[in-house]
Amino acid sequence: MNSRRPLFTAHPDQRTGQNPLTLAVIASVWIAALPNWPLWRALLALPESASLRGSVFILGFGVMIAALLSALLALFAWRATIKPAIGFLLLAAAFGAHFMGSYGVVIDTTMMTNVLQTDPREVRDLLSWRLLAGVGLLAGVPLLLLWRVPVARTRAWSQAGRNLVGLIAALLVLAALLFALFADLSATMRNHRSMRYLINPVNSLYALVDLAVQSNAKPAGPPLPIGLDARIAPRAAGSLPPLLVLVIGETARADHFALNGYARPTNPELAAQSVLSFRNVMSCGTNTAASLPCMFSHLGKAGFESRERDHENLLDLVQRAGMAVLWIDNQAGCKGLCERIPHVETCSGDDCMDEAMLQGLDARIGALPAEARARGVLVVLHQMGSHGPAYFKRSPPDRKPFMPECTTNVLQQCDRDTLINGYDNSIVYTDHVLAQTIAWLKGSQAHYDTTLLYVSDHGESLGENNLYLHGLPYAVAPVEQKHVPMLLWPVIGPNADCLRAQRDVALTHDNLFHSALGVLGISASEYKPQLDAFAPCRAR
Ligand SMILES: [Zn+2]
Repeated sequence: MNSRRPLFTAHPDQRTGQNPLTLAVIASVWIAALPNWPLWRALLALPESASLRGSVFILGFGVMIAALLSALLALFAWRATIKPAIGFLLLAAAFGAHFMGSYGVVIDTTMMTNVLQTDPREVRDLLSWRLLAGVGLLAGVPLLLLWRVPVARTRAWSQAGRNLVGLIAALLVLAALLFALFADLSATMRNHRSMRYLINPVNSLYALVDLAVQSNAKPAGPPLPIGLDARIAPRAAGSLPPLLVLVIGETARADHFALNGYARPTNPELAAQSVLSFRNVMSCGTNTAASLPCMFSHLGKAGFESRERDHENLLDLVQRAGMAVLWIDNQAGCKGLCERIPHVETCSGDDCMDEAMLQGLDARIGALPAEARARGVLVVLHQMGSHGPAYFKRSPPDRKPFMPECTTNVLQQCDRDTLINGYDNSIVYTDHVLAQTIAWLKGSQAHYDTTLLYVSDHGESLGENNLYLHGLPYAVAPVEQKHVPMLLWPVIGPNADCLRAQRDVALTHDNLFHSALGVLGISASEYKPQLDAFAPCRAR
């Protein structure tokens, strides 16, 4: 039986294929060299790279990444585990390369949170032939080759010794290069802070570990209650209970609102309403998962990001004060904010337009407890807004004043004008949805004292400096991803002039919690009047 393959029969434990450690090193070199192309592209674009010293640094940096990956894979260099370990790293690196290379995003912990919380609609928008080709080339081809390579059977103790030697050798190479290149390395990482998030797939692994550590570090159990002393301020005789519709916008840029001076008529309907646009508002985060919980927290950005325990949010407090609260979602869910209050998802189809949130709204509010409604109502509408990259899907065919539109999700293949057309059409549609919401509120004025407050969760890069989408780490993100629109309606009566004078005051998402409580007339120890954007103008 051995006659046809005499070479492989000497001993069942002898090598009959590649040693797992050899595969680990080959895979590490491949991943360092090819799926890291967004990192190499970014490094090569730096002015300091245009010298011999720069070239030596880039080469040494590549070897460092290969050594780091080799050290990691040496831990898995066993016959049973080496192929799954390499496959995981290859796929993580290939997907990471596509998104970093195509959209100018980087992969950090909040981006990973977003990826893990994203909904199927958004995933479908991101799939493209370019993604398939990129992942096929960077991961598919080596995976096919890997699949065909036999792995040697080795004795456990000898493989353990070999892996230990491999691990130490890789760490020595890493340490030697770190020492030799330290000056250039520290300067590059300090001057170009987003660079570290481009190291692929170390960025994804780091983010996953960071998330696991974060979720383990948090004490288990329900969030700490807030608003234990929340009270509804007594209303003047004959006045109506408040109805606040808080619209959480998505991916809307302040500088693309005509109300803020944008040259195109992107606010045709709101321009005819007594709406006030606050022109200097900055977001808490640069993506939904980071911004939303922060916007509804009483802690503000700094306090929220350094919190040791999770707390309840604005919705819990308003409900505890005795008012009716409802969250209506047309996007990827409320990120845990609406867990303890009534909430509905409008629809789950691909082309769910934001107007769906207004359908049957009277009945939805009518289903809330009557005694709570009599005290006041807070409705949150969580928009799909301008969520990319498929901007053209964010406005219905009959509401597209700007044509032609970019109709692919490979944004850099589009002429920039068509990309902006698609994005601006989504803003025009948001303008329509907000005007419709105001029309609905006007119909409720017999029973309620109505207010609309709109604010976007973050902005968007539309090709400036070759950046697209959003989600860059806050410290390095461009202003386009952080400067958000915020609108208040109605601005009439004795306070209107005072409010209009506030339109350029510097505000942030930190103001939202306190401003909403102010509108609803709720007092609580968490309420800070100095953060209530409307308090200076309230006639009390
Ligand atoms: Zn968002």
